[in-house]
Amino acid sequence: MSVKRVREDLFEEYFTRIEEVLYDEDLRRASDRATETFASRKESSLRSLPYIKYYRKRVREVKAWSIEHLDELIHEFKEKVEDLGGKVYLAKDRSEACRVIGEIVGSGKIVLKSKSMTTEEIELNSYLERLNNTVIETDLGERIVQLLHDKPSHVVVPAVHISRERIAQLFSKVTGKTVPPDPSAIVKVVRGLLRDVYMKADVGISGANALAANTGSIVIVENEGNARFVTNAPPTHVVVCGMEKVVPTLEDAMIITQVLPPHATGQRMTSYISVITGPSSTSDIELISVKGVHGPLELHVVLLDNGRLEMRRDPLFKQALYCIRCGSCLNACPIYQLLGGNYGCKYFGGIGVIWTAFNEGFEKAAPLAFACTLCDRCRMECPLELDVPRMIEKLRGLLSERELIPATLKSATNNILEKGNPLRMD
Ligand code: SF4
Repeated sequence: MSVKRVREDLFEEYFTRIEEVLYDEDLRRASDRATETFASRKESSLRSLPYIKYYRKRVREVKAWSIEHLDELIHEFKEKVEDLGGKVYLAKDRSEACRVIGEIVGSGKIVLKSKSMTTEEIELNSYLERLNNTVIETDLGERIVQLLHDKPSHVVVPAVHISRERIAQLFSKVTGKTVPPDPSAIVKVVRGLLRDVYMKADVGISGANALAANTGSIVIVENEGNARFVTNAPPTHVVVCGMEKVVPTLEDAMIITQVLPPHATGQRMTSYISVITGPSSTSDIELISVKGVHGPLELHVVLLDNGRLEMRRDPLFKQALYCIRCGSCLNACPIYQLLGGNYGCKYFGGIGVIWTAFNEGFEKAAPLAFACTLCDRCRMECPLELDVPRMIEKLRGLLSERELIPATLKSATNNILEKGNPLRMD
């Protein structure tokens, strides 16, 4: 296939998806409700936290230092986890990560998952299902998306594009009883559906918000309490996350947990922060250490590269690795507000364009890069002030060098160069 054909196919597919979502009434309704709620909650939460700006500055410093010293930090983290009886694996790409996790899980197992964008990135669910495992998402949003055979559209609230009316219809179908479009009633139904499954599961798979190199700790921030069950009830716990999540100390990891909630959900603090340091153990019998008491017997941590090291080599794009995935920039992005995030990419908004370019390739990122208005709102809303518009500008230059630009934009550019205006007027 010639480069020209590939390029045209890419843009055409994207334009078709845009047309679809622009006429999606359900998406409009859900997105409008969510946008208003996000903005007002975040504003009032930040007003009540006058010290947050110091924490934000500190998180940026920690992340910048960590990315510069990533190799040493990963080495230290691996050593600490393995001293505690866990195992750490470095996966260079999606297929290696899936293969490693597939070997740990095996087949014919019940696998529970808590929310993890990295498992979406490597398409882990379908891989494990092909190995004849039953995979059950436990985060409410992820479960809704899974039951609808849909895809997440937001890093924090995966089912933000689905209205409560449609969710009620879904659970009415699942349970065979009428579920009203009332969030409390829906949550009660889901609680009942998942309660027993936790104790039957063989493996729990989670992501991580930060990893502390000095203690080998895994830090997970959540509200629902499902991550606690997933990481505690099954005999095996597998953590899957990007290698950029390692920071020097547990204290650094905890500062990230202070900055995330107000920017992600507009809360002062989430309901739960779990700190997991090694598999479950006891020394209660004659001080002899035994692994696996009430919590998991095995702990495995898979650290994913998948383009991250390449990103780190670029002086501007490496900033994207500082991202703490709070989603604040999405909630302010005019393009995201209009189109949502459900158009075939694993990451969304401006920062998602950069991630897509390095995780999935420049061709996949091209249509999204040219959709950005460079309005700068994402940078202003970002707790770390990541300069996403400048990254997108640089990416557009690289895409243009590879001829990965929409035909209309290219002819407009030629017209400007030749005639001084995009319409080719004399
Ligand atoms: S780019 Fe900034 S605002 Fe957007 S998800 Fe990352 S940290 Fe949050």
